[in-house]
Amino acid sequence: MRATETEDEAASMSKAENLASKKVGVLALQGDFEAHSAAIARAGATPVLVRKPEDLENIAGLVIPGGESTTMLKLLREEGMFELLAEFGRKRPIFGTCAGAILMAREVTHPAQQSLGLMDLSVERNGYGRQIDSRITRLDPDAEFHERTAPGDLEAVFIRAPIIRHVGPQARVLASYEGDPVLVEQGRHLVATFHPELTPDSRVHRLFISKL
Ligand code: GLN
Repeated sequence: MRATETEDEAASMSKAENLASKKVGVLALQGDFEAHSAAIARAGATPVLVRKPEDLENIAGLVIPGGESTTMLKLLREEGMFELLAEFGRKRPIFGTCAGAILMAREVTHPAQQSLGLMDLSVERNGYGRQIDSRITRLDPDAEFHERTAPGDLEAVFIRAPIIRHVGPQARVLASYEGDPVLVEQGRHLVATFHPELTPDSRVHRLFISKL
């Protein structure tokens, strides 16, 4: 084997090792945290289930999964973790999907409820209505999403999804569906109103991991 091949191999090995050394917490109080753990592992990092305040200590970032935001909120309060998550998010990246995106917002409507306020978003719960509440579609993300991950459209699974009605000036929309933002970044944080953990494409999780 030529020396350069060995060097290339060594470089890609150390890149993989570097990624695997990144511990990503997945809030595991309620919702589809198992699918997110698997998606984090597929994206090359190491998932850690977060159930207690001390679980937040050794992780580089956190995923708040989909599920039922009112239930998650109640459990967070019971575990004494609501304030701790807000504090965590002031230092480290959080990726919220669906119910997780609702928790990340500044304002929640329909009905209103408390949220972490880590991103300047106004979110309407169950915005697509109750009857036709779930769908699978393909998104055409922004050029920036492609540049930072890889080209190609993105399969998106929506389940009783919220609609992001307002995005503040510091937030950046990376993908939209029917004119509404569905993948939004603000500084270290990321939210999706769809479920990237339910499709084999790991670009959205890779994008989050690249922010750690
Ligand atoms: N409708 C749920 C809520 O309001 C979110 C749905 C989901 O996370 N799939 O919390």
